[in-house]
Amino acid sequence: MSDLLALARDLDARDPLASHLDAFVEAPGVAAYLDGNSLGRPLRELPDRLAAFVREDWGTRLIRSWDEQWMDLPTELGDRIGRVALGAAAGQTVVADSTTVLLYKLMRAAVDAQAGRAEIVIEEGNFPTDRFVAEGIAAERGMTLRWIAADQIAGVQVADIEAVVNENTALVVLSHVDYRSGALADMRAITDAVHEAGGLVLWDLCHSVGVIPTELDACGVDLAVGCTYKYLNGGPGSPAFAYVNARHHGVLRQPIQGWMGAGDVFAMGSAYAPAGGIRQFISGTPPVLGMLAMQGMLDLIEAASIGAVREKSKTLTGLAVQAFDEELAPLGVRLLSPRDAAQRGGHVTIGHPDFAEVTKTLWADGVIPDFRFPDGIRLGLSPLSTSHEEVLSGVLAVRDALG
Ligand SMILES: *Cc1c(COP(=O)(O)O)cnc(C)c1O
Repeated sequence: MSDLLALARDLDARDPLASHLDAFVEAPGVAAYLDGNSLGRPLRELPDRLAAFVREDWGTRLIRSWDEQWMDLPTELGDRIGRVALGAAAGQTVVADSTTVLLYKLMRAAVDAQAGRAEIVIEEGNFPTDRFVAEGIAAERGMTLRWIAADQIAGVQVADIEAVVNENTALVVLSHVDYRSGALADMRAITDAVHEAGGLVLWDLCHSVGVIPTELDACGVDLAVGCTYKYLNGGPGSPAFAYVNARHHGVLRQPIQGWMGAGDVFAMGSAYAPAGGIRQFISGTPPVLGMLAMQGMLDLIEAASIGAVREKSKTLTGLAVQAFDEELAPLGVRLLSPRDAAQRGGHVTIGHPDFAEVTKTLWADGVIPDFRFPDGIRLGLSPLSTSHEEVLSGVLAVRDALG
């Protein structure tokens, strides 16, 4: 047995979370699923949960379920995500819409509250939807985008932010974990630097929620959004969440004024008056069906604890880096993620000019990472559903496909 295989098996044998691997639906023909950061796997309990929903909550209780449970589901589930994964006290997190729509609502609310400040700071390498929404808002409001060019591997640093924020900064929009390199930003120091200049900060947690614990309240974060279909396994198109720190409730006004975010939903009044608290950030009818699958994953994360999930994430990505060093670096593959686990989120990205072709071979063989233009393969390692041996077999499959 190779040393790497012995190491992977030893890490699995000592993995305190190994028992959770069985909680996920088996995928015949899939030898290694390395894309849990794009679409988390479904849980085995999900078919029963869905069937019970159709039979009882929807099928039998019918419209009564709105009063009995669905009206409060966006805020109850938001509170749960806040408690289990975000370090957010109750009443500040809501589940609704897609990440893109929530980015629009929060960015727009933030810049409107910052009268006299004309710049939105955003990083050139941020995820397209974040950049596109910011561009649209800047055009709508006659504002300027101030682009930061961060190091492509180390990601955005506090010095990058300090160099651009000033009395003209309305809002800074950043990803906590870079979707390409996996670089983990220093949320606390950057939030402080933005506040020092009088700006607000919006953190995109798409690639951190469910794998990297955050302390949104303790860091004094203003705003955050994140996906639930990545490390929260909510399924394709499951709704996103928004966090708005309580000090901004009643101050920020979101732009999509809908009846579901009104103070009295059934008053059918002549004018919009927002609900108090986080509820005002809802616009229309919440996607209840899309909120089912993530509930089982939140149960699992809560049972495991997000701290233990993070620890396993470090050993999984650490093994990927070690296997890269031994097996891939000699073939000319480049490491496109930080080496230090403390600076890295839940995925590791590697680069080689042949990776577009290699990815096709891997997918055909049941090894499923994702390809990121121009030549990156991203190994997304969802800790509760991924074993160390699976990670190693994925890296070895990359080696064999290159050979
Ligand atoms: C996945 C992801 C999104 C996705 O937005 P949707 O509206 O759900 O399509 C947005 N931002 C980042 C940083 C992401 O990683």
